[in-house]
Amino acid sequence: MFIDKVKITVAAGKGGDGAVAFHREKYVAAGGPDGGDGGHGGSIVLRVNDHLTTLLDFRYKRKYVAAPGANGQGSRCHGKRGEDLIIQVPRGTVVRDAATEAIIVDMSGDEDFVLARGGRGGWGNKHFATPTRQLPRFAKAGLPGESREVILELKLLADVGLVGFPNVGKSTLLSVTSNARPKIANYHFTTLFPNLGVIYVDEGVSFVMADIPGIIEGAAEGAGLGHDFLRHIDRCRLLVHIVDVSGSEARDPIEDFDKICAELHEYSVDLSNRPMIVAANKCDLLDPESDNLERLRAHVEELGCEFYEISAATTQGTRHLMQVIAQRLQTLPPITVYEPEYVKPLEKAGSPDELEIEHYGDTWVISGPWLERLIGDIFFDDYESRNYFDRQLRKSGLFERLEAMGIQDGDTVSIYDWEFEYER
Ligand code: GDP
Ligand code: MG
Repeated sequence: MFIDKVKITVAAGKGGDGAVAFHREKYVAAGGPDGGDGGHGGSIVLRVNDHLTTLLDFRYKRKYVAAPGANGQGSRCHGKRGEDLIIQVPRGTVVRDAATEAIIVDMSGDEDFVLARGGRGGWGNKHFATPTRQLPRFAKAGLPGESREVILELKLLADVGLVGFPNVGKSTLLSVTSNARPKIANYHFTTLFPNLGVIYVDEGVSFVMADIPGIIEGAAEGAGLGHDFLRHIDRCRLLVHIVDVSGSEARDPIEDFDKICAELHEYSVDLSNRPMIVAANKCDLLDPESDNLERLRAHVEELGCEFYEISAATTQGTRHLMQVIAQRLQTLPPITVYEPEYVKPLEKAGSPDELEIEHYGDTWVISGPWLERLIGDIFFDDYESRNYFDRQLRKSGLFERLEAMGIQDGDTVSIYDWEFEYER
């Protein structure tokens, strides 16, 4: 079975909690705090695997959860980091946010992509010792890992897409020109999944051609097979439109040609504007009396497309066609790689009113989902980013609440991994 679109959910691991512990040793009166930090949670990482050609694996497994970080322990023992979960995808997998359908990443290159980040481990109490607070009896909880629902969609990477009615000889053409061995038979819809073939034209000159299941009338509205498969030629730099001119199925080649063009247009205007070469196939069966070939040629050339005669079965004209395609490709832009469109929604971050304030002597520990998300968006090495953090805190009303609870100048405000001295 060929599966090329799936929805999955991924959840990165939670960070481990920091430990509250105190050093104990004979003859040492008051050992200091030595609670270790929690380990970071494992992330969900996407990786291209060229041995995969479909998204079939995802049909049976829809949920992916990475390991949590272990909790910190006494004696300054840090919790173990949760292991990342690597999800292997075929090259050309486009990942979208399930809710907005915005593209998160196009897995066409070789780089891994972190789809969901593991939660930070919480700090152990050893971080909270100060000259005036020698026995901090608190530590930080680990943060939750990111989780998200995404759509994986395979869009093959091919230079050339073959289009045309079923049974016109697309698979045959691919099989006689490339290493691919698609299924060929004399009935409609033999091809049930896309085939890719590499065509070597000359030394150092080659391209990839895709044969997709037939496009039929109504395919763009979802009838028949064609619609689902059109996505595989979305990226193609050039379309080669195969038309059967033999009249073997008592169809009119011009009508066929126009119908396929209309389907492409219906599916995507962008695709219908893609450069196209037209190949009249089954010329070996051409009835000498018929004017099919010449009528089609006139029609196609009027539209400004190049026109070639071939017979995929006898390979007449196929080598020449491949050379023409290779030349044409040299003038065309590279295969489309989709730019990410997804922007992390900030408004979903809950409300600052949910901020939780805990109070340990002169230390004020602040937490809450709003703050976690805010921190996730801040680069603390960056001045602007820190300023933004500061402004958000001020706007949140946190300081007024602290004042009301009796915070003093010089007290410590502790926010996850950051601490600062309170000053009015
Ligand atoms: P597709 O549906 O477009 O992939 O068409 P296929 O490649 O499966 O071919 C459909 C039928 O047409 C098969 O029986 C092929 O052997 C036959 N066929 C394909 N090309 C030619 C050709 O150039 N000449 C002749 N005589 N038959 C062909
Ligand atoms: Mg076929």
